[in-house]
Amino acid sequence: MKSNQFNPANQIQDLQYFGEFGGVNPSISDSSTYTFLSAKTMFDTFEGNAEGCYLYSRHSSPMNLYLGEALAAMEGTESANVAASGMGAITPVLMQLCAAGDEIVSSRTIYGGTYAFMKNMLPKWNIKTNFVDITKLDVVEAAITENTKVLYCETVSNPLLEVADIESLAKIANKYNIKLVVDNTFSPLSVAPAKLGADVVIHSLTKFINGSSDTVGGVVCASQEFINDLKNVNNGASMLLGPTMDSLRSASILKNLRTLHIRMKQHSYNASYLAEKFEKDGLKVVYPGLKSHPSHEIYSTMINKEYGFGGMMTIDVGSLDKANELMELMQNRNLGYLAVSLGFYKTLFSAPGTSTSSEIPLDEQKEMGLTDGLIRFSIGLDNDIERTYQMMKACMMEIGVLKELQKV
Ligand SMILES: *Cc1c(COP(=O)(O)O)cnc(C)c1O
Repeated sequence: MKSNQFNPANQIQDLQYFGEFGGVNPSISDSSTYTFLSAKTMFDTFEGNAEGCYLYSRHSSPMNLYLGEALAAMEGTESANVAASGMGAITPVLMQLCAAGDEIVSSRTIYGGTYAFMKNMLPKWNIKTNFVDITKLDVVEAAITENTKVLYCETVSNPLLEVADIESLAKIANKYNIKLVVDNTFSPLSVAPAKLGADVVIHSLTKFINGSSDTVGGVVCASQEFINDLKNVNNGASMLLGPTMDSLRSASILKNLRTLHIRMKQHSYNASYLAEKFEKDGLKVVYPGLKSHPSHEIYSTMINKEYGFGGMMTIDVGSLDKANELMELMQNRNLGYLAVSLGFYKTLFSAPGTSTSSEIPLDEQKEMGLTDGLIRFSIGLDNDIERTYQMMKACMMEIGVLKELQKV
Protein backbone atom coordinates (compact mmCIF):
# COMPACT_ATOMS: atom_id res chain seq x y z
CA MET A 1 0.00 0.00 0.00
CA LYS A 2 1.33 3.43 -0.93
CA SER A 3 1.52 6.07 1.76
CA ASN A 4 -0.96 8.27 -0.04
CA GLN A 5 -3.68 5.66 0.47
CA PHE A 6 -2.96 5.48 4.17
CA ASN A 7 -4.12 8.38 6.29
CA PRO A 8 -1.99 8.64 9.42
CA ALA A 9 -4.13 11.34 11.06
CA ASN A 10 -7.23 9.12 10.80
CA GLN A 11 -5.30 6.29 12.41
CA ILE A 12 -4.47 8.51 15.37
CA GLN A 13 -7.99 9.90 15.60
CA ASP A 14 -9.55 6.44 15.74
CA LEU A 15 -7.72 5.50 18.93
CA GLN A 16 -9.73 6.03 22.09
CA TYR A 17 -8.33 6.25 25.61
CA PHE A 18 -10.19 7.11 28.77
CA GLY A 19 -8.86 8.13 32.16
CA GLU A 20 -9.48 6.30 35.39
CA PHE A 21 -12.61 8.31 36.31
CA GLY A 22 -14.00 8.52 32.80
CA GLY A 23 -11.60 11.34 31.97
CA VAL A 24 -11.30 12.25 28.30
CA ASN A 25 -7.53 11.90 28.58
CA PRO A 26 -5.85 8.78 29.92
CA SER A 27 -4.71 8.88 33.54
CA ILE A 28 -1.04 9.50 34.13
CA SER A 29 0.75 6.63 35.81
CA ASP A 30 2.73 8.42 38.49
CA SER A 31 4.82 5.41 39.51
CA SER A 32 8.21 3.97 38.74
CA THR A 33 7.35 0.52 40.08
CA TYR A 34 4.25 -1.68 40.24
CA THR A 35 2.97 -4.18 42.78
CA PHE A 36 2.01 -7.76 42.04
CA LEU A 37 -0.63 -9.83 43.82
CA SER A 38 1.41 -12.97 43.26
CA ALA A 39 5.12 -13.70 43.05
CA LYS A 40 4.46 -15.99 40.10
CA THR A 41 3.04 -13.12 38.01
CA MET A 42 6.08 -11.01 38.85
CA PHE A 43 8.35 -13.78 37.57
CA ASP A 44 6.28 -14.17 34.39
CA THR A 45 6.42 -10.43 33.78
CA PHE A 46 10.21 -10.50 34.04
CA GLU A 47 10.22 -13.22 31.45
CA GLY A 48 8.04 -11.05 29.24
CA ASN A 49 5.07 -13.40 29.48
CA ALA A 50 2.48 -11.39 31.40
CA GLU A 51 0.53 -9.29 28.94
CA GLY A 52 -0.91 -6.15 30.53
CA CYS A 53 1.30 -6.25 33.62
CA TYR A 54 3.75 -3.50 34.40
CA LEU A 55 6.99 -4.18 36.20
CA TYR A 56 9.16 -1.09 36.25
CA SER A 57 8.84 2.15 34.29
CA ARG A 58 12.20 1.98 32.51
CA HIS A 59 10.72 -1.02 30.71
CA SER A 60 7.22 0.36 30.15
CA SER A 61 4.58 2.50 31.74
CA PRO A 62 0.90 2.84 30.76
CA MET A 63 1.27 6.37 29.40
CA ASN A 64 4.39 5.54 27.39
CA LEU A 65 2.51 2.62 25.87
CA TYR A 66 -0.42 4.88 24.94
CA LEU A 67 1.87 7.39 23.25
CA GLY A 68 3.79 4.58 21.56
CA GLU A 69 0.55 3.04 20.32
CA ALA A 70 -0.59 6.35 18.82
CA LEU A 71 2.74 6.87 17.06
CA ALA A 72 2.76 3.28 15.76
CA ALA A 73 -0.74 3.94 14.38
CA MET A 74 0.54 7.13 12.74
CA GLU A 75 3.42 5.30 11.04
CA GLY A 76 1.48 2.13 10.31
CA THR A 77 3.85 -0.15 12.23
CA GLU A 78 2.95 -2.93 14.65
CA SER A 79 4.50 -1.27 17.64
CA ALA A 80 6.63 1.60 18.92
CA ASN A 81 8.79 2.53 21.88
CA VAL A 82 9.06 6.11 23.09
CA ALA A 83 12.37 7.51 24.34
CA ALA A 84 13.56 10.50 26.29
CA SER A 85 14.96 12.19 23.16
CA GLY A 86 15.43 11.64 19.45
CA MET A 87 19.04 10.60 20.09
CA GLY A 88 17.70 8.28 22.80
CA ALA A 89 15.69 6.57 20.04
CA ILE A 90 18.40 6.54 17.35
CA THR A 91 21.39 5.30 19.33
CA PRO A 92 19.77 2.15 20.82
CA VAL A 93 18.42 1.18 17.38
CA LEU A 94 21.91 1.27 15.88
CA MET A 95 23.43 -0.54 18.85
CA GLN A 96 20.70 -3.17 18.71
CA LEU A 97 21.17 -3.83 15.00
CA CYS A 98 24.98 -3.74 14.89
CA ALA A 99 27.75 -5.68 16.64
CA ALA A 100 31.54 -5.33 16.47
CA GLY A 101 32.71 -5.73 12.86
CA ASP A 102 29.40 -4.65 11.36
CA GLU A 103 28.92 -1.67 9.07
CA ILE A 104 26.32 0.98 8.39
CA VAL A 105 25.68 2.73 5.08
CA SER A 106 24.31 6.16 5.89
CA SER A 107 23.28 9.28 4.10
CA ARG A 108 25.96 11.91 4.62
CA THR A 109 23.41 14.69 5.11
CA ILE A 110 21.85 13.74 8.42
CA TYR A 111 21.27 15.33 11.79
CA GLY A 112 24.61 16.46 13.28
CA GLY A 113 24.21 14.37 16.45
CA THR A 114 23.48 11.20 14.49
CA TYR A 115 26.46 11.90 12.25
CA ALA A 116 28.72 12.44 15.27
CA PHE A 117 27.49 9.22 16.91
CA MET A 118 28.24 7.17 13.79
CA LYS A 119 31.52 8.89 13.04
CA ASN A 120 33.01 9.34 16.52
CA MET A 121 31.40 6.84 18.87
CA LEU A 122 30.44 3.70 16.99
CA PRO A 123 34.09 3.06 15.93
CA LYS A 124 34.82 2.48 19.65
CA TRP A 125 32.79 -0.71 19.27
CA ASN A 126 34.34 -1.40 15.87
CA ILE A 127 31.22 -0.40 13.95
CA LYS A 128 32.09 1.49 10.79
CA THR A 129 29.87 3.84 8.79
CA ASN A 130 30.15 4.55 5.08
CA PHE A 131 28.64 7.97 4.39
CA VAL A 132 27.16 8.35 0.92
CA ASP A 133 25.06 10.65 -1.23
CA ILE A 134 21.70 8.98 -0.55
CA THR A 135 20.13 10.37 -3.72
CA LYS A 136 22.53 8.27 -5.85
CA LEU A 137 21.13 4.75 -5.63
CA ASP A 138 24.08 3.16 -7.47
CA VAL A 139 26.50 4.77 -4.98
CA VAL A 140 24.38 3.52 -2.08
CA GLU A 141 24.36 -0.02 -3.42
CA ALA A 142 28.10 0.02 -4.12
CA ALA A 143 28.82 1.02 -0.51
CA ILE A 144 27.13 -2.10 0.87
CA THR A 145 29.55 -4.86 1.92
CA GLU A 146 28.99 -8.31 3.39
CA ASN A 147 29.30 -6.70 6.85
CA THR A 148 26.61 -4.07 6.29
CA LYS A 149 23.64 -4.43 8.62
CA VAL A 150 21.90 -1.06 8.35
CA LEU A 151 20.98 1.40 5.63
CA TYR A 152 20.25 4.73 7.34
CA CYS A 153 18.69 7.94 6.06
CA GLU A 154 16.33 10.81 6.82
CA THR A 155 13.21 11.14 4.66
CA VAL A 156 13.99 14.81 4.17
CA SER A 157 17.51 15.46 5.30
CA ASN A 158 18.83 17.91 7.81
CA PRO A 159 19.82 20.56 6.86
CA LEU A 160 20.01 20.30 3.05
CA LEU A 161 16.46 18.97 2.53
CA GLU A 162 17.60 16.15 0.27
CA VAL A 163 14.90 13.56 -0.25
CA ALA A 164 15.51 9.84 0.20
CA ASP A 165 13.67 7.64 -2.31
CA ILE A 166 12.49 5.26 0.39
CA GLU A 167 10.80 2.74 -1.89
CA SER A 168 13.96 2.25 -3.95
CA LEU A 169 16.17 2.18 -0.86
CA ALA A 170 13.88 -0.47 0.66
CA LYS A 171 14.36 -2.62 -2.45
CA ILE A 172 18.13 -2.35 -2.08
CA ALA A 173 17.92 -3.15 1.65
CA ASN A 174 15.78 -6.21 0.89
CA LYS A 175 18.14 -7.43 -1.77
CA TYR A 176 21.05 -7.47 0.70
CA ASN A 177 18.94 -8.51 3.67
CA ILE A 178 19.79 -5.40 5.70
CA LYS A 179 17.52 -3.10 7.72
CA LEU A 180 16.36 0.24 6.34
CA VAL A 181 16.18 2.74 9.20
CA VAL A 182 14.52 6.07 8.39
CA ASP A 183 14.48 9.21 10.54
CA ASN A 184 11.16 10.86 9.62
CA THR A 185 11.46 13.87 11.94
CA PHE A 186 11.06 16.49 9.18
CA SER A 187 8.00 14.92 7.59
CA PRO A 188 5.49 13.46 10.06
CA LEU A 189 2.10 12.66 8.46
CA SER A 190 3.41 13.80 5.06
CA VAL A 191 5.38 10.60 4.62
CA ALA A 192 4.83 7.15 6.16
CA PRO A 193 8.20 5.45 5.51
CA ALA A 194 7.12 2.02 6.81
CA LYS A 195 4.39 2.00 4.16
CA LEU A 196 7.13 2.55 1.57
CA GLY A 197 9.17 -0.37 2.90
CA ALA A 198 11.28 1.00 5.77
CA ASP A 199 11.90 -1.48 8.61
CA VAL A 200 12.36 1.05 11.40
CA VAL A 201 11.00 4.62 11.54
CA ILE A 202 12.38 7.08 14.06
CA HIS A 203 11.25 10.53 15.14
CA SER A 204 12.62 13.21 17.35
CA LEU A 205 9.33 14.09 19.05
CA THR A 206 11.02 17.33 20.11
CA LYS A 207 10.21 18.88 16.74
CA PHE A 208 6.88 18.94 14.84
CA ILE A 209 5.17 16.11 16.71
CA ASN A 210 5.24 17.76 20.12
CA GLY A 211 5.43 21.17 18.48
CA SER A 212 5.70 23.35 21.56
CA SER A 213 9.47 23.41 22.10
CA ASP A 214 9.00 22.52 25.76
CA THR A 215 10.60 19.07 25.85
CA VAL A 216 12.84 16.61 24.07
CA GLY A 217 11.49 13.19 23.15
CA GLY A 218 11.86 10.40 20.64
CA VAL A 219 10.23 7.27 19.28
CA VAL A 220 11.13 4.08 17.42
CA CYS A 221 8.30 2.63 15.31
CA ALA A 222 8.84 -0.93 14.06
CA SER A 223 7.65 -4.53 14.19
CA GLN A 224 6.55 -5.97 17.52
CA GLU A 225 9.54 -8.29 17.37
CA PHE A 226 12.08 -5.46 17.04
CA ILE A 227 10.41 -3.36 19.75
CA ASN A 228 10.46 -6.40 22.06
CA ASP A 229 14.17 -6.84 21.26
CA LEU A 230 14.88 -3.21 22.20
CA LYS A 231 13.04 -3.68 25.51
CA ASN A 232 14.47 -7.09 26.36
CA VAL A 233 15.67 -7.08 29.99
CA ASN A 234 18.78 -9.11 29.16
CA ASN A 235 20.05 -7.59 25.92
CA GLY A 236 17.72 -4.79 24.79
CA ALA A 237 19.56 -1.55 24.04
CA SER A 238 16.64 0.69 25.04
CA MET A 239 16.10 -1.19 28.30
CA LEU A 240 19.79 -1.34 29.20
CA LEU A 241 20.98 2.08 28.02
CA GLY A 242 17.91 3.54 29.72
CA PRO A 243 16.76 6.56 27.66
CA THR A 244 13.26 6.37 29.15
CA MET A 245 10.66 9.07 28.74
CA ASP A 246 8.87 10.26 31.86
CA SER A 247 5.12 9.51 32.00
CA LEU A 248 4.20 13.14 32.69
CA ARG A 249 5.96 14.13 29.49
CA SER A 250 4.47 11.39 27.38
CA ALA A 251 1.01 12.52 28.56
CA SER A 252 1.74 16.03 27.40
CA ILE A 253 3.15 14.91 24.04
CA LEU A 254 0.09 12.69 23.42
CA LYS A 255 -2.15 15.73 23.86
CA ASN A 256 -0.08 17.79 21.43
CA LEU A 257 -0.12 14.94 18.90
CA ARG A 258 -3.88 15.48 18.59
CA THR A 259 -3.36 18.75 16.70
CA LEU A 260 -0.42 17.64 14.57
CA HIS A 261 -2.47 17.34 11.35
CA ILE A 262 -3.73 20.91 11.63
CA ARG A 263 -0.29 22.25 12.43
CA MET A 264 1.45 20.37 9.61
CA LYS A 265 -0.98 21.77 7.05
CA GLN A 266 -0.29 25.31 8.24
CA HIS A 267 3.50 24.80 8.43
CA SER A 268 3.45 23.45 4.87
CA TYR A 269 1.16 26.18 3.56
CA ASN A 270 3.30 28.94 5.05
CA ALA A 271 6.64 27.43 4.01
CA SER A 272 5.50 26.81 0.46
CA TYR A 273 4.11 30.37 0.23
CA LEU A 274 7.41 31.90 1.31
CA ALA A 275 9.53 29.49 -0.77
CA GLU A 276 7.65 30.39 -3.94
CA LYS A 277 7.76 34.13 -3.28
CA PHE A 278 11.44 34.25 -2.39
CA GLU A 279 12.41 32.06 -5.32
CA LYS A 280 10.55 34.45 -7.64
CA ASP A 281 12.43 37.30 -6.00
CA GLY A 282 15.62 35.63 -7.18
CA LEU A 283 16.90 34.07 -3.96
CA LYS A 284 18.49 30.62 -3.74
CA VAL A 285 15.69 28.76 -2.02
CA VAL A 286 15.58 25.04 -1.35
CA TYR A 287 12.14 23.59 -0.60
CA PRO A 288 10.93 20.14 -1.68
CA GLY A 289 7.66 21.69 -2.89
CA LEU A 290 9.46 23.82 -5.49
CA LYS A 291 9.76 22.45 -9.02
CA SER A 292 13.42 23.47 -8.90
CA HIS A 293 14.10 20.97 -6.10
CA PRO A 294 16.05 18.03 -7.60
CA SER A 295 13.75 15.50 -5.92
CA HIS A 296 10.47 17.39 -6.34
CA GLU A 297 8.93 14.76 -8.56
CA ILE A 298 9.83 11.72 -6.53
CA TYR A 299 8.81 13.49 -3.32
CA SER A 300 5.43 14.33 -4.85
CA THR A 301 4.78 10.61 -5.27
CA MET A 302 5.84 9.84 -1.70
CA ILE A 303 3.75 12.34 0.22
CA ASN A 304 0.30 12.29 1.59
CA LYS A 305 -0.65 15.41 -0.37
CA GLU A 306 -3.00 17.01 2.12
CA TYR A 307 -0.10 17.65 4.54
CA GLY A 308 2.04 19.21 1.87
CA PHE A 309 5.79 19.46 1.47
CA GLY A 310 6.55 20.36 5.08
CA GLY A 311 7.63 23.38 7.07
CA MET A 312 11.38 23.38 6.39
CA MET A 313 13.18 25.50 3.82
CA THR A 314 16.64 26.92 3.32
CA ILE A 315 17.81 30.17 1.78
CA ASP A 316 21.42 30.79 0.85
CA VAL A 317 22.23 34.45 1.36
CA GLY A 318 25.84 34.19 0.19
CA SER A 319 27.94 34.59 3.31
CA LEU A 320 27.90 33.85 7.01
CA ASP A 321 28.06 37.58 7.82
CA LYS A 322 24.93 38.26 5.79
CA ALA A 323 23.21 35.24 7.27
CA ASN A 324 23.97 36.41 10.80
CA GLU A 325 22.94 39.98 10.06
CA LEU A 326 19.67 38.85 8.52
CA MET A 327 18.82 36.46 11.33
CA GLU A 328 19.48 39.10 13.99
CA LEU A 329 17.36 41.64 12.14
CA MET A 330 14.49 39.20 11.66
CA GLN A 331 14.60 38.37 15.35
CA ASN A 332 14.53 42.07 16.26
CA ARG A 333 11.44 42.48 14.09
CA ASN A 334 9.80 39.54 15.90
CA LEU A 335 9.64 37.42 12.74
CA GLY A 336 11.02 34.43 14.57
CA TYR A 337 13.82 33.30 16.82
CA LEU A 338 17.48 32.70 16.16
CA ALA A 339 17.42 29.19 17.58
CA VAL A 340 18.15 25.61 16.61
CA SER A 341 15.35 23.03 16.49
CA LEU A 342 12.14 23.09 14.48
CA GLY A 343 8.41 22.57 14.48
CA PHE A 344 7.55 25.47 16.81
CA TYR A 345 4.56 27.84 16.31
CA LYS A 346 7.11 30.58 15.78
CA THR A 347 9.54 30.56 12.88
CA LEU A 348 13.01 29.37 13.96
CA PHE A 349 16.18 30.02 12.00
CA SER A 350 19.84 29.13 12.30
CA ALA A 351 22.94 28.81 10.14
CA PRO A 352 23.52 25.06 10.24
CA GLY A 353 27.23 25.21 9.34
CA THR A 354 27.96 26.94 12.64
CA SER A 355 25.27 25.30 14.75
CA THR A 356 23.40 22.04 14.25
CA SER A 357 25.83 20.63 11.72
CA SER A 358 29.02 21.93 13.32
CA GLU A 359 29.88 18.30 14.20
CA ILE A 360 30.54 17.82 10.49
CA PRO A 361 34.13 18.84 9.53
CA LEU A 362 34.36 21.95 7.33
CA ASP A 363 35.76 20.20 4.24
CA GLU A 364 32.96 17.64 4.40
CA GLN A 365 30.37 20.39 4.82
CA LYS A 366 31.71 21.97 1.65
CA GLU A 367 31.61 18.70 -0.28
CA MET A 368 27.95 18.11 0.58
CA GLY A 369 26.97 21.62 -0.42
CA LEU A 370 26.52 23.01 3.07
CA THR A 371 27.57 26.60 2.48
CA ASP A 372 28.33 29.35 5.00
CA GLY A 373 25.48 31.56 3.92
CA LEU A 374 22.84 28.88 4.29
CA ILE A 375 19.99 29.68 6.66
CA ARG A 376 17.68 26.88 7.73
CA PHE A 377 14.13 27.98 8.43
CA SER A 378 11.45 26.10 10.30
CA ILE A 379 8.46 28.15 9.23
CA GLY A 380 5.96 28.84 11.98
CA LEU A 381 2.19 28.88 12.12
CA ASP A 382 1.86 32.60 11.23
CA ASN A 383 -1.74 33.53 10.59
CA ASP A 384 -1.05 36.10 7.84
CA ILE A 385 1.84 34.76 5.81
CA GLU A 386 1.70 37.54 3.20
CA ARG A 387 2.38 40.04 5.99
CA THR A 388 5.27 37.88 7.18
CA TYR A 389 6.62 37.74 3.63
CA GLN A 390 6.54 41.52 3.30
CA MET A 391 8.29 41.96 6.63
CA MET A 392 10.98 39.37 5.82
CA LYS A 393 11.51 40.95 2.43
CA ALA A 394 11.95 44.36 4.03
CA CYS A 395 14.71 42.89 6.25
CA MET A 396 16.41 41.35 3.23
CA MET A 397 16.34 44.58 1.28
CA GLU A 398 17.60 46.56 4.24
CA ILE A 399 20.80 44.53 4.45
CA GLY A 400 21.21 44.13 0.69
CA VAL A 401 20.37 40.42 0.41
CA LEU A 402 17.51 41.35 -1.91
CA LYS A 403 18.31 44.32 -4.07
CA GLU A 404 15.50 45.07 -6.42
CA LEU A 405 12.30 46.50 -5.08
CA GLN A 406 9.46 44.31 -6.25
CA LYS A 407 6.32 45.71 -7.74
CA VAL A 408 3.59 44.98 -5.23
C1 LIG B 1 16.57 17.01 16.43
C2 LIG B 1 16.78 15.85 15.57
C3 LIG B 1 17.27 14.65 16.09
C4 LIG B 1 17.66 14.49 17.54
O1 LIG B 1 16.56 14.60 18.38
P1 LIG B 1 16.66 15.08 19.91
O2 LIG B 1 15.26 15.03 20.35
O3 LIG B 1 17.27 16.45 19.90
O4 LIG B 1 17.54 14.11 20.60
C5 LIG B 1 17.41 13.58 15.23
N1 LIG B 1 17.11 13.68 13.93
C6 LIG B 1 16.65 14.83 13.39
C7 LIG B 1 16.33 14.87 11.94
C8 LIG B 1 16.47 15.95 14.19
O5 LIG B 1 16.03 17.09 13.64
